[in-house]
Amino acid sequence: MKYKWRNIIEPFKIKTVEPLGFTTYEEREKILKEAFYNLFNIRAEHVLIDLLTDSGTSAMSVAQWSAIMSADESYAGARSYYHFESTIKEITGYEEIIPVHQGRAAERILFSVIGGKGKYSVSNSHFDTTRANAEASGMVAVDFPVKEAMDFETEAPFKGNMDTYEFEKFIKERGAENISICIITATNNTLGGQPVSMKNLKEVSRLCKTYKIPLFIDCARFAENAYFIRLREEEYSKKPVKEIVKQMFSLADGAMMSAKKDAFANIGGFLAMKNDGWAQTARQNLILTEGFRTYGGLAGRDLDAIAVGLKEVMDERYLEYRIKSTEYLGRGLKNARIPIVNPPGGHGIYVNARKFLPHINENNFPAQSLVCELYLAGGIRAVEIGMLMFGKWDGKGNILPGEMELVRLAIPRRVYTQSHVDYVIEVFSEIEKNRGNIKGLEVIEAPPVLTHFTAKLKPLD
Ligand SMILES: *Cc1c(COP(=O)(O)O)cnc(C)c1O
Repeated sequence: MKYKWRNIIEPFKIKTVEPLGFTTYEEREKILKEAFYNLFNIRAEHVLIDLLTDSGTSAMSVAQWSAIMSADESYAGARSYYHFESTIKEITGYEEIIPVHQGRAAERILFSVIGGKGKYSVSNSHFDTTRANAEASGMVAVDFPVKEAMDFETEAPFKGNMDTYEFEKFIKERGAENISICIITATNNTLGGQPVSMKNLKEVSRLCKTYKIPLFIDCARFAENAYFIRLREEEYSKKPVKEIVKQMFSLADGAMMSAKKDAFANIGGFLAMKNDGWAQTARQNLILTEGFRTYGGLAGRDLDAIAVGLKEVMDERYLEYRIKSTEYLGRGLKNARIPIVNPPGGHGIYVNARKFLPHINENNFPAQSLVCELYLAGGIRAVEIGMLMFGKWDGKGNILPGEMELVRLAIPRRVYTQSHVDYVIEVFSEIEKNRGNIKGLEVIEAPPVLTHFTAKLKPLD
């Protein structure tokens, strides 16, 4: 008799623990008020379950900590660098590997090499720092997500895809020579952590080759993306994740990565490319702000932690747990009648606050109101992706609503257990019963750019 288990368990045991920050309801009321209803102003030690981001918040493994202890801190030519370089070469197949302190540094360097006024950067969706760096170089960043990406109800398997019809139309209208780069963000962070299919990547790659446009992958969550391909694209259902990853990278000319995501590192990143085309200029730029080419702003121990993490993340037991546990939260919330963005993404669940709190006026931040309620009720920290983050200013001091009004619950890697997730679901079900009483917010003070980090708010009377 062969047994077959339905349950997926955390594929690790816990060796080092960190206490959670318990607070009382009364304490949280006070903390929230003092933070002007902006959770970026709260001390992390006052948060019980921190779902603000999956960036730099992973738990490292025994192997990573061992590598950290034995790392080489030499300024030039450190052993840790060669470990980092050979690992990324092996995974991506690219020749030129440039370490950086985090993803946005890779973006800044890349755009300083290829950017400039009047040039376009096109993408399935630029992540916000990618867009900001492209635009800071004088470029115009244009997104071509597929239409179904903005439909929160349909269960399409690859909502992260690029609309290749619109992309080609754009090439013909604006001229391929004006498009400096095409960036595929995998998974697509801005639009719910949704994956990009191999089929789509192949088609984008074919277009880029035809029109001689360099193609880069923003690969912060490459392993999660590869696992979705394996799950959802028949042809790849038996292929090892490692091979899927290799094929993904082979379709592009280069990649940039924030190692704070799928490398389980607390800091770091890289810029990598097939050949020397831009690498020399990029390295000259690197030394100005990041450091020598064999450390790029990182300590030797960071380089080693990343190298080990990049291999660990492709472990299929880990990826199965990762994708299933995110889905578990999504399913639990749906059962508690919480409207979420479907299907669940790789690194988090997005709650549709507009639908959940229809009695709160658009101008009174339904998503941020829910973020505050989550903290007040259960000490949970989430992030608003809506008016506060993306709203546009009308020049008269008013914010105009953005397209989305979501609350993102990002899940740090290997940090919380199923009982923590059950607790989050319980908090949501209690909030659901009380949702009619949740009040909106109004702005006391807000800067015109990157409003969400520093805005001050207060509840409506
Ligand atoms: C996080 C992230 C970045 C930026 O990386 P940092 O390490 O935060 O600078 C770029 N692209 C994507 C898709 C990301 O998720």
